[in-house]
Parts: sequence; structure tokens; C-alpha cells
Amino acid sequence: MNQSPAELASFVADLHIHSPYAFACSKALTLDNLATWARRKGIDLLATGDFTHPTWAVELRANLVSGQDGLYQYGGVRFVPGTEISCVYRQGGRVRRIHMLTLMPTLDAAEYLTRRLSQYGNLSTDGRPTVSLSARDLLALALDCHPEAIVMPAHAWTPWYGVYGSKSGFDSLEECFGDLSHLITAVETGLSSDPAMNRAVPELENRSIVSFSDAHSLGRLGRELTAFSGELSWDGLAAGLRDAGVAFTVEFYPEEGKYHYSGHRNCGVVYGPAEEAANGTDCPVCGRALTLGVLHRVSRLAQRPLDDDWQPDSYGLIDSGDGHPPFARLIPLQEVIAAIRNVGVNTRKVMREYDTVIDHVGSELAALLYASESALLPVAGETLTEAIMRARTGEVSVEPGYDGVYGTVKPTTGESSAGQLSLL
Ligand SMILES: [Zn+2]
Ligand SMILES: [Zn+2]
Repeated sequence: MNQSPAELASFVADLHIHSPYAFACSKALTLDNLATWARRKGIDLLATGDFTHPTWAVELRANLVSGQDGLYQYGGVRFVPGTEISCVYRQGGRVRRIHMLTLMPTLDAAEYLTRRLSQYGNLSTDGRPTVSLSARDLLALALDCHPEAIVMPAHAWTPWYGVYGSKSGFDSLEECFGDLSHLITAVETGLSSDPAMNRAVPELENRSIVSFSDAHSLGRLGRELTAFSGELSWDGLAAGLRDAGVAFTVEFYPEEGKYHYSGHRNCGVVYGPAEEAANGTDCPVCGRALTLGVLHRVSRLAQRPLDDDWQPDSYGLIDSGDGHPPFARLIPLQEVIAAIRNVGVNTRKVMREYDTVIDHVGSELAALLYASESALLPVAGETLTEAIMRARTGEVSVEPGYDGVYGTVKPTTGESSAGQLSLL
């Protein structure tokens, strides 16, 4: 029997989140609420998000308490100064828009980086600031501010802002980071891709593949997560991101992400690999080029075919068997409940049932991944328990997302297909 995910994980982190001061983000993302929801989700360590924003920076200073472990604490949750920065610049005759995650070991270091960044853009309008600085130069600047700074590409494959994105990205980390590319030791996959897809790209073979939520609201915290095997400390985190200290990652089904397939949202055109092969990548409705999805980009940069016959073990972990960390594909608990009760995700009925389960099992991660079927049954009841187990073992029906439209993934209902994947 393999080790269970609860045994593998020393701590669970969500390092890509936002504050109330980033565009299109909920005003409810206060420190109090973040701490409460992190505990409910099963997250031990959160990035602060948005540390370059002047108002949020003051709140972080006033409330976070630094600890012996080199991390900060608030409301029973550890925090690390972290932010997402949008680098917009020209390189190779094209405009590049690359989102980068930056973690700093201390609030002082974060403040110093903020001061240095302020000459490259306005940091007070958006918690996720846009700077006229290349991704490579951001990495260099962060390291100049503190030698232990950690910088990595955010949601690496999304068309508009990913380092590998089809619209304004690059074909390799080498092309983007040049002489500093060896300092990029970790890459955030984003919702529309998972480690199995990423490992097919040679330059990602020996880098840490991590997943975080990019939450713009509380309910979405931890929808993707990374569990680490080292100690819960700044050093443990840094080592984990540097040398393969990832225990496992929790992923969306990549089809559920907004950019898995290619397509045109306004033309109602969705192309998977088969349609692309048959019809090309121009839109049959408007004639313009389709927004190329993540699957298309990964397939282009991969050096081997993407196989998708990954079978989760009885714990829901998918292990490729090549020494890389396993991962789990999960469906958020609210979506599982909404699917089986046939109601909207953001309804009172769903929240009531969600709260009941979390109160008894401890956290959403425990419900989705850690708790055994027999432990869930008395709390969640037969239908929900079965749906959770099906989501864990890949018995799901899938409609892939494309061009900014989320896909849908639901546990199958009815006769169990006995572990059979019903992915498209
Ligand atoms: Zn982003
Ligand atoms: Zn079109």
C-alpha cells in the first residue's frame, strides 16, 4: 500500500492569492477571513498576496506576527510575503505579458522590493501591479533585494499572461530568463494544466511543478494546492521549491480550467485536438485565429505524446512512477454538492451541507482527499460520499473549458463504472 496523502504532507500551502486591493477581487479577502477560510480549506501556509499595494502592506505590517520558523502568523495560519507581478515589455519584436509570483522571506525585504519596483510602474492602483520590467529583470531585482527571494512564473500556460502562453509568452524558460533561467526552480501550472502534462516538456522535467489557487474570493482559496514534505518554515519552503520537496499537488481536472481547449467564446467555437487536426486553428465563424488553449501549447512544446490514462490509487493520488511527486485531481466540495443536489454552487443549501461536512471532518482537503469512505459516510451521507469517492478516483464527466469559459467536471452518477475513467 502506498503512503496516504495525509502521511506524505508535512504542510499544505497556497502561495498565489489576492487581497481586496487587486482588480476584480472580493472585498471580503481580509486577513481575518483569509485565516478562517485557510483553516476550513486545510491550508497551513498562505502567501499574503499583493504586498506591493500600499494599503495592504500597512495592514500586513500591523497584524502579522513573525515567528521562529521564519514565517509570519495570523489567526492560527502561517503567512509568507508573496505577490503576483505583471511584467509587460518588448522582447524579440513582440509585446510580452508575463505574470510572476514573488515570495520574499521578510516584510522588510518585501518593502525594499516594493520601493525598487515603484520606478517601473504604479503600485497603488492594483494589488497585482503592472511593471515595465522583463520577467528576467524582475527575478534579478528580487534577488538583489534579498538573496533568498523566490520567483516563479505564475499559471505558466494561460494564453495571455503565462510564460508559455500562446498570445504573449515564450517557447522556453531559457528564451524568457536567459542567463538566469537556472534560478527558476519552480513553475506554477495554472488550472488548465496538471503535472502529467507539464512533465512532457523537457525543461520542466527537473523543476518543481506547483499549484496554487489564484483565488479572487474566499471560497476559491486552496482550489489548487501544494503539499510539501519538509518542515513548516521559510527554510523548509525554500528548500521544497528548490529541490524537489513537493509531497504532492492538488489539481483541478485540467479540463475545468478556463483555457484547456482552443476556441472563440463569442463565436461559440470549441476545438480539442481532434478538431484542430481536422480543421486547423482558424475560427470557422469569424475567420480569425482561435485563442489557442493550454492543451494545444503543451502538446506543441512537449517532446513526447501526452498520455492521459493516469489511474489514481485508492487514496486518489496519481503517481507517474518516474520519481516525480504524485498529484490528485479534485473537484471543489461545493461543486460536488451542487452537482448531486442539482442546485447552484453559491446557494444556501450547498453552504449548509458544506459547513456540516467541514465541521465534522476538519477541512475541505480532509473531506476531498484524506478522509476514508467509512469516515465520510456518517457525516456526508451515502450520495455525497459516493460522489466524493468518484471525484477522487476519476469517475467524472467532463466538458472542457476554452477561451475564458470554465469547463465543467462532475462526478458521474448511477451505476459505478468500477474505477473506469470516463474522461473524454
Ligand atoms: Zn495572473
Ligand atoms: Zn471566431
